[in-house]
Amino acid sequence: MTPSPRIPGHRFLHSPGPTRLPDAVLHAMSRQPMDLADTRLDDIIADCETGLKRLLGTRDAEVLMYAANGHGAWEALIVNLLAPGRSALVPGTGHFSESWAIQTEALGGRVVRTPWVEGRPIDAGEVERALRADTKREIAAVFAVHTDTASGSTSDLRALRAAIDVTDHPALFVVDVVASLAVVPFDMDALRVDAVIGASQKGLMLPPGMGFVALNERALALARANPAPRFYWDFGRRVDVLSYRKFCGTPPMNLLYGLQASLELIFEEGLEAIHARHRQLAGAVHAAVEGWSEGGALRFFGQVPEARSMSVTAVAVAEGVDPEALRRVARERFQVSISGGLGPLAGRVFRIGHMGDMNAAMILGCLAGVEAAMHVQRLSIGAGGVQRAVAYLARQ
Ligand SMILES: *Cc1c(COP(=O)(O)O)cnc(C)c1O
Repeated sequence: MTPSPRIPGHRFLHSPGPTRLPDAVLHAMSRQPMDLADTRLDDIIADCETGLKRLLGTRDAEVLMYAANGHGAWEALIVNLLAPGRSALVPGTGHFSESWAIQTEALGGRVVRTPWVEGRPIDAGEVERALRADTKREIAAVFAVHTDTASGSTSDLRALRAAIDVTDHPALFVVDVVASLAVVPFDMDALRVDAVIGASQKGLMLPPGMGFVALNERALALARANPAPRFYWDFGRRVDVLSYRKFCGTPPMNLLYGLQASLELIFEEGLEAIHARHRQLAGAVHAAVEGWSEGGALRFFGQVPEARSMSVTAVAVAEGVDPEALRRVARERFQVSISGGLGPLAGRVFRIGHMGDMNAAMILGCLAGVEAAMHVQRLSIGAGGVQRAVAYLARQ
């Protein structure tokens, strides 16, 4: 094997997860594990639970953390909330709603889907119709993805809440905030969300490997009444004061050290400041994409401007443009890592992540690297995409 050459400086990580780790998180994680009876461990877990609850906007929900990625936490929700014969309503948002639906079906759950229209967020009217059509009340929960990281769209959770309310359907409101938490406002209690799922490696600025759920009384009651066999994921088993039970085994201590540090960073900056910063970074990316779009080789994938995500921007390329080749040049020549299209968008889209530990100069560096790669690839782009981003940031 040939050794890979050293990269001077650093590679700009602009995938929409995993995201860059702040130094404080890296340092916190480089500590030694502890013995399970060490009371400092209980303090760290308590800090993480309290911080996550504050971040999620909930007073009383139960937070359960898993040494698993987001798919693991999805599985926890599926096996706990869907008793045999019950179904989940999964509103279409793109690749992530579809992946959650497929996982639910693989575990024996039934799924009712609302259609996904490319470039558009969830249609709350379709959700209302699907709930009204469920006269036998078989739907146990609505599994909604807040920000679909593949399509770069964020759906309106208030409209979804209203759609469920207006039908008087008893389905739980379950929301995936993996890619929106600590990026845009979310308030579990105010939205009366019954269950939330999150993961470590996006807005939370941690390495991949930790998923979590937050559950209100209704969600816990539904899980407790579900006779389906389960053990590791079982909510009832994990609601416990002992750390060994909370994690069904040894807690992932170093991830918890990191989470404690990242929550500290988040509350030090302040949620409003974090939301404003992400709006600004997304605005800079949008300004560049508008400029580039004038050349014809690419355009926004998201067709509803107010639904474009503050976490990631999906850019659709014209016929004949290879987004994977563009990514390779951006990464190998300019040290900028961006992402490709997932599922049905493979080969049709590239994505620029702008969430987490990021500032204006970093996003300009990313955009400049991507623009340079577009020149190398001779894409027909409008002149001055990066200049527009600079001008946008200067106006803020
Ligand atoms: C990344 C992501 C997931 C899956 O998380 P993994 O950690 O990759 O399993 C689920 N939902 C959304 C919205 C995501 O962005």
